[in-house]
Amino acid sequence: MKTIAVLAALVVLSTPRFHAQTPTRPKLAVIIVVDQMRADYVDRFNGEWTGGLKRMVTQGAWFQNAAYPYLTTVTCAGHATISTGSFPPTHGVFQNSWWDRDARKQMTCTEDPRANDVGYGVTVTGGDSPQRLLVPTFGDQMRESRQAHVVSLSLKDRSAIMLGGHGGDAVTWLTNTLDGWETSSAYSQTTVPAVKAFVDANPITADFGKTWTRMLPPTSYSGSDDGLGEAPPQGWTRTFPHALKGLATTADAAYFQQWERSPYADAYLGRFAAALVQSMQLGRHDGTDVLAVSFSSPDLVGHAFGPSSHEVQDIYARLDLTIGALFDQLDAVVGKDQWVAGLTADHGVTPIPEQLVAEGKDAGRISGSEIVVAIERALKPALGEGRHVTVLNTNDIYFEPGVYKKIEQTKGLIGSVISAIEARPGVRRAFRSEQARDGAKSSDPLLRAAALSYVPGRSGDIIFAAKPGWMISSAGTTHGSATPDDQRVPLLFLGQGIRPGAYQQPATPADLAPTLAVISGLSMKAEGRPLPCVK
Ligand SMILES: [Zn+2]
Repeated sequence: MKTIAVLAALVVLSTPRFHAQTPTRPKLAVIIVVDQMRADYVDRFNGEWTGGLKRMVTQGAWFQNAAYPYLTTVTCAGHATISTGSFPPTHGVFQNSWWDRDARKQMTCTEDPRANDVGYGVTVTGGDSPQRLLVPTFGDQMRESRQAHVVSLSLKDRSAIMLGGHGGDAVTWLTNTLDGWETSSAYSQTTVPAVKAFVDANPITADFGKTWTRMLPPTSYSGSDDGLGEAPPQGWTRTFPHALKGLATTADAAYFQQWERSPYADAYLGRFAAALVQSMQLGRHDGTDVLAVSFSSPDLVGHAFGPSSHEVQDIYARLDLTIGALFDQLDAVVGKDQWVAGLTADHGVTPIPEQLVAEGKDAGRISGSEIVVAIERALKPALGEGRHVTVLNTNDIYFEPGVYKKIEQTKGLIGSVISAIEARPGVRRAFRSEQARDGAKSSDPLLRAAALSYVPGRSGDIIFAAKPGWMISSAGTTHGSATPDDQRVPLLFLGQGIRPGAYQQPATPADLAPTLAVISGLSMKAEGRPLPCVK
């Protein structure tokens, strides 16, 4: 019996050699984005992991020096960069929202008056679409040339839309009121049956009354649970446990805010993705299908509690299990070694400024309104009374029509304005828009970073960069700067076509899609390059 078993094993092992001429392609390519995941979380937490993140670190390819090269490290820009393999000057999405000069209003990166959102059993208003994304995504190119079925899921509209692209079988995100799910007429005029089936069977209110407690042994958590400057959502304190019960005893608005800041939302999204793989037959069509999932809760928890919190450490311990369960489902439904996955983040995060100050570091909160006052003061002698700044939108400053031209034409005035901005606490540098536009090959790394976030016609008239540890945010913490805290992210691959190992060469998240593309048999148009982990 033993001999027969060995022979059978040999036959099985040698069979693929006869097919060596035909390259095998994965049946499913998976993009996982963990919103706000810092590169150092992998070093800090991987000893506690046992699930999907652990599997990627130990059995996959781990790029340990991956970072965004641009200034404005925010969600919409990050997701567009990951999916298109290009940078903001090419894909056009440099901010979560910006001042639309034609419409004369602030518009989000997905807002589209011509689109109508489509709710899954909930009332929705407004419309979103990928119209501001100027180039096709990996999913778009896979649909076009490889007949891929594309599914993209996230709590956030901008994450689901930018990852999916200009089409897809199911592109789904939470409504503005967080009480249900929606898509848009840009993707589908009606609800998608497979999505509807899952959503109907899994109301978000099912987690009402649960309590988020720490999963790991108490000694595993570093630092204090009661961190300086933490800004929990309504109904929660700075310390565990966190009960998901809203402000009273019903699933009110506060409940949905708590839910999306809990590991229950990650788990839900993981189950959602696994269910759609099954019901939409992903990985069982001709060619290679595409699944994109962006886990938003780590971002919301990070903004509230900061990167040193017990909450962040715990949500990653749980996300590891959520991703592990999803991978188990892919093994079962698509087949072991029949899929490939790439994981990264859309940006990192800066520690809570008050905590940095307590450590004796230079850090703090920048007042946007004080920057505007300083600019108006600098302009007054030449341009007179009145409001000249239209809006300050994180790193971008917009002037009223014609004002910026006048500033440039008035001798010495642009210099006074730049000096006034740079004199404000926490401001590192301010650039004229022409400098950012032409800065791609500058010897100044910060100007090069600003150039890679610059989109003509959309970016501000003046762009400024914060010092490390400084931010425009009134509570908790945030990201959006050209600092290692905000720019460095994990970049991991696992599955078919991937050569495991720890890789030290510099890489960016724009390399993720081109890497999955080459494994999937697609020659992708992108600025990023396939990484050397491809077999
Ligand atoms: Zn984000």
